[in-house]
Amino acid sequence: MTRSAPVGPAPGIEAALGLFRTDRLQAARAQAEALSDSDSPMLRADAATLLARITRRQGELDVALAACARAIQAAEAAQDPARECRARVQKAHVLAALGRIEAAAEESDLARRLSADSGDAAVEAAGLEALGAVQWAMGRWTDALASFERMQLLATSAGDLELQAVAQGALASVQGELAQQPACDDPGLHRRRALRHAAEYLRLASELGDLHAIRSARHNQAVAQLASGDRAAARRTFAAVHGEAGTGEARAVALLNLAEMDLEDGAAAAALQRLQDAHALLSVLGDAAYLQKCCELLCNAQEALGEPAAALRWHRQFHAHYVQLASDRAQMHARALEVKFETGRAQAEAEFERLRAERYERAALVDGLTGIPNRRAFDRALATAQRHLADGRPFSLVLLDLDHFKSINDQHSHQVGDDVLRRVGRVLASSCRHMDLAARYGGEEFALVLPDVDASLAESICERVRSAVEREPWHEVSPGLQVSVSIGCLGVAAADHALSIEALLAAADQRLYLAKRAGRNRVVGARPEAGGAPGR
Ligand code: GH3
Ligand code: MG
Ligand code: MG
Repeated sequence: MTRSAPVGPAPGIEAALGLFRTDRLQAARAQAEALSDSDSPMLRADAATLLARITRRQGELDVALAACARAIQAAEAAQDPARECRARVQKAHVLAALGRIEAAAEESDLARRLSADSGDAAVEAAGLEALGAVQWAMGRWTDALASFERMQLLATSAGDLELQAVAQGALASVQGELAQQPACDDPGLHRRRALRHAAEYLRLASELGDLHAIRSARHNQAVAQLASGDRAAARRTFAAVHGEAGTGEARAVALLNLAEMDLEDGAAAAALQRLQDAHALLSVLGDAAYLQKCCELLCNAQEALGEPAAALRWHRQFHAHYVQLASDRAQMHARALEVKFETGRAQAEAEFERLRAERYERAALVDGLTGIPNRRAFDRALATAQRHLADGRPFSLVLLDLDHFKSINDQHSHQVGDDVLRRVGRVLASSCRHMDLAARYGGEEFALVLPDVDASLAESICERVRSAVEREPWHEVSPGLQVSVSIGCLGVAAADHALSIEALLAAADQRLYLAKRAGRNRVVGARPEAGGAPGR
């Protein structure tokens, strides 16, 4: 008779991996939920990762997936790769349990990369846990074995009992699977190893005092004993789980396994008794998966006892649970997809916000009328240029003021005045190199910052600008219109690095004043004949 895999707290790997220090899951869950609003992103990441672990074990995979997304976000905000790794490990488990193996593989890959950079053995062990779990889900037993073996070594070197226990449980399960492979040349060897790992798992779980882990470990041990043909030992182990004052679920599961062994041994009446007890326990718990298994075995037991009518009744119940379970799974997948969609939308919204902020930032540096940089942008450029003075990089600072602009407004209209400002802005922008900055400083005043330009070069640039403004076809804007600018030009050398920005602006302004006083439409630079020494 071919035997189905023993019913467990979950199939092998989940039992091994779903390990907690506490049996008070509900209390731990409430605590994690309370902490997930914390101001500290690190605390938020830890709380959400714990919540993911708990809800994953409780079978609420959609809730677990949402918790993982929050944990990853918080860890990224805290710029904490170790925490991000732990969150991604959980996400890989959840995705694998949802059957989304490809996404799980991607996630475990990310976790692995983060953990490899962490230089922390425990984090690296956790990364391998995710990788191994995905390889397990893909049926790549040899790869999973290598991952869990390395995980076990790292967990041992980190002195992390919990991770060691997880690794031992996983190794027991993988060795059991390897023994069953048709191509396996020494199944006995793998079974012995499975037994050894299960025993080690049990020892570590007992040392941790984790009842759930102890039950998982016993389950692993019983499976390994059963596979090695030691039915008596397997019965004793299942019975030990049954006898322990654990949860109803654990006792029910032990009863199911014992009953299945009874049926295989031809003891249908004993099986029926156990199954009725298990059914009573499971009906209270309402676990559809175990109830389904229980009804299937009850049907088999009644059939073996020659009661076809009773067998048919159990078969109908088996089918009802089967349908219920399929619909629960479908709903959970739908909710998990929703979580995925929500996460994608949150990312898109964050990107949109970033772009909007960038646009605002840019807008805050641009003058509304002329479209060239504004005073704020100029202040920044000037501060940057002044900082670079100390590195031996000179620059020139230029202030320009339109001549008799008040009369342009008066004689040609304010509208024309605005057009003049726009045109002067364009002339300045087109006279500049890409590293220069031409800004509207305010009103009818403009300013230039010219990096790496010394006083004499700056003066010739200013002269070009002055002449360009003068030669603009201003009559196109308004008949008879003439426009000119006065310019104060200051070359700032490395030796001036101690001067304040205010002092530099005052010196440039002084030259502009001299240009006005000398008759306007001219440039005043350092040359003494043009306006004398700057008033520093
Ligand atoms: P000066 O040659 O001595 O600089 O004489 P000015 O007339 O240019 O100087 P003043 O400071 O007396 O006048 C500046 C004028 O610029 C006054 C103000 O109405 C005008 N103005 C400032 N901002 C704008 C603007 O955005 N648009 C227009 N059309 N006019 C503006
Ligand atoms: Mg002015
Ligand atoms: Mg003016």
